[in-house]
Order: sequence, then C-alpha cells, then structure tokens
Amino acid sequence: MSRNAEIFQEAQRLIPGGVNSPVRAFRGVPIDPPIIKRGRGASIWDEDGNEYIDYVGSWGPLILGHAPTEVIEYVKILLADGTSFGAPTEMENNIAAEIIKLVPSIELVRMVNSGTEATMSAVRLARGFTGRNKIIKFEGCYHGHGDSFLIKAGSGALTLGQPDSPGVPAGLASETLVAQYNDLTSVQALMNEYGDDIAAVIVEPVAGNMGTVPPAEGFLKGLRSLCDNNDSVLIFDEVMTGFRVAPGGAQELYGITPDLTTLGKIIGGGFPVGAYGGKNEIMEQISPLGPVYQAGTLSGNPIAMAAGYKTLQILQQPNTYQQLEETTATLVAGMEDNLKSAGVPAQINRVGSMFCQYFSENPVTNFQQASQANRDQFNSYFVQMIREGIYLAPSPFEAGFVSLSHRAADIEKTLDAHRKALEHL
Ligand code: PMP
Repeated sequence: MSRNAEIFQEAQRLIPGGVNSPVRAFRGVPIDPPIIKRGRGASIWDEDGNEYIDYVGSWGPLILGHAPTEVIEYVKILLADGTSFGAPTEMENNIAAEIIKLVPSIELVRMVNSGTEATMSAVRLARGFTGRNKIIKFEGCYHGHGDSFLIKAGSGALTLGQPDSPGVPAGLASETLVAQYNDLTSVQALMNEYGDDIAAVIVEPVAGNMGTVPPAEGFLKGLRSLCDNNDSVLIFDEVMTGFRVAPGGAQELYGITPDLTTLGKIIGGGFPVGAYGGKNEIMEQISPLGPVYQAGTLSGNPIAMAAGYKTLQILQQPNTYQQLEETTATLVAGMEDNLKSAGVPAQINRVGSMFCQYFSENPVTNFQQASQANRDQFNSYFVQMIREGIYLAPSPFEAGFVSLSHRAADIEKTLDAHRKALEHL
C-alpha cells in the first residue's frame, strides 16, 4: 500500500471522513486524496514523493506560492518571542493599517480566526445595527459554515449535495432569503416583500464557490442602490477576492463601496485568519465600543498577523498584480486553444488570478448554469490532470488560483497535461 493510502486509511479511523474540512476528502471525484507533505513555490509533494503543480493554494491564501522565504523567515524570528498573548500587540496595528489603507470602504477593522467567523460576525453586526433580522444571500454563494449561510450554499456544501444542512434551526433558516446571482429583479422582489426586515445583503462580489462567476455589468451597483433605498447593509464577502483580484479587492476593481467587508485567506499568509470591517458608524457598534458582542481567544494572533502583514507588503511591490493577470491570462488562453483543438465544449471564466473551466456549451453567469455543467467530464478531466501532476480543486464548483510563484514552465506543463486530459474525455 502506498504511504498516501496508508495515511488516509488511518485518518478515516480517527477523523470524520479522514479530513478536517469536507471537500478535501475528494468525495466528489473517483479517487482518494494524496496526503501532502510539503510545498515550495508553485508545487506541492505528497507522501509518496509525487510532485504536483498546485492551483488550489490552500483554497486561496497562498497568493505568493508555498513557503515564501520572506514570510517564513519573518515568522521564524517572531516565533521565538512567543505565539500568543491574548493582549494587544503592535503587529495588530500594522496589519489593520495595511487593510485600511488598501481597502477603500474600511475605516475600522476587527480581526478574527476564519472567514466563517468574519461573515457570522458581520451579519450579527448588521442585524444589531439595523434592528432587523433577515438577510439576503445568493444561490451558490458560500460564506462559511455559519447557520445563517448554509442555505443553498456553494463550495463543499454544493459538491457534496448538502446545500442546506440538517442542524440549522428552521426558525433561523427562515431569516435567510435567497436571490439569484446577477439577477437584480430577484433581489428587488425580496425587498418588495420583506423590505423592512432586511438587515443585510451579503454577496461574493466575484462568486468563487460555484466555480468563478464574475458580476454582470451593473449588478454590484444595483445592489448598492437597492440597499441604499432599503436602509439595508451591503456586505461584500471578500474572503476569497480580497487582495486577490486587486490590492483593494473586488470593491476596488468594480468601484463599488460596500458598508461592510469580510476578509480572510490572503490576510493570514497561510495562517488561520479572518477579518471584518467597514464604516465607523457601523463598526462602532461592536463590543467594547458598542453593544454587539464578538470576541476571540486567538483573534489577532501575532504570528498570523505577521505572516499576513508580510504577505500584503510583498503584494504591494511593483507589477505583482500585473504578473498574476498575465500568467493566468496565458494559462486560460492556452486552455481555450486546447479545448478548441479537441472540439470539447467548455467555458472558462476568469477574474485576475481566479479561474474556472466549466464543461458546458453555455455561458455560466449564475448557479443554475454552473450546475448544468457536465460532471462526468469534470471527473475524468480531474483524474487525468492529477495523474499528470496538476493539482486542481476536486470539484467543478471551485475556483482555481494562480500564484506569483507560477512560472512559464509551470504553465506549459499544465497546458500539456490539459491537452492530454481532453484527449481522454
Ligand atoms: N466566504 C467566502 C467567500 C469563502 O470563499 C470562504 C471559504 N472558502 C468563506 C467565507 C469561509 O472561510 P473559512 O473557510 O476560513 O471559514
């Protein structure tokens, strides 16, 4: 038995499904997951010594690639001074100042430990601020596993056929209203019916948990005015898009100012982290300034803050986003050529260094269209790619991520594998 198989078998005895987060179990695809031992640059290696070019990047955080020397060295030095104090440290100011400088709508920011915590806290805050209970989310968007969000959720919930989870009280689920992505009429209809009780609209400004679905022209702007007219809080969940699609996230890219923003992934530089922030007027409602309670033993952990701070500094060096754009554009153009030559109908959506290939004849602009893509073809493609040493998310409903470590040779190798994988469909 291979080391990978041995370790995964043991994991299944110890941990539900052998994993600490569901999609890692590869249940949506017909193979078991490799067990990862180490990463460097654009590559990861499994316990059997196989190398893969990685397009998962720990599901988004690793925009610099694996084990970036500057971040690792910085963290190593700080580790010697202790790992957590549960008391204020200067590093918390450093990262808060970076976030406030880069993200246009954020005046005050609170650090938490995951994206889930960030979205849960932002919704509590929006409810506390408005005195209203209901929220609107979009079908196929994923905002972590908080009770209010496991209603027609994307990502793993979708991959594993559990977009609505048992264990979420019906009373709470009824406070979550679901609209269609890129469809303002569906939002308007909910506002007409429940307007006075809608605390917030939460949206992924580029949807990355049903593949990659960019906002249609005018969609985000329309949400902004619907929220303004209804006195509802507009929350951009930028856990994935923050510092990914532009230094200031999707709100900078599309020029729309939300009231609250949730962040995660990249701001932890590979350590567990989340954050939410926004206008003073709303953020001042958070404890200890205001009555809305939210706390955390390890929140603002100095090591996570340091890794995030260093990552944000590196990202602000010249040409980083241009490089991400060019590398990903080259990759996608090559994939499109391959698809054409092979005569395989597919759509590739891309925003900056986020991309997704759907095995579908029709454009994908919402959940309905994403879910119509051919799953058998995806599975066969996925297995072929991993055999060729290309590590993709094991689900057709996830975004792929390119990092600053992906080089021309990695892209070439990926395109070769892609060409071969299409031949096997
Ligand atoms: N929001 C979005 C947009 C996400 O993509 C994710 C995770 N993929 C989350 C929230 C939840 O973050 P976490 O997994 O850190 O709890």
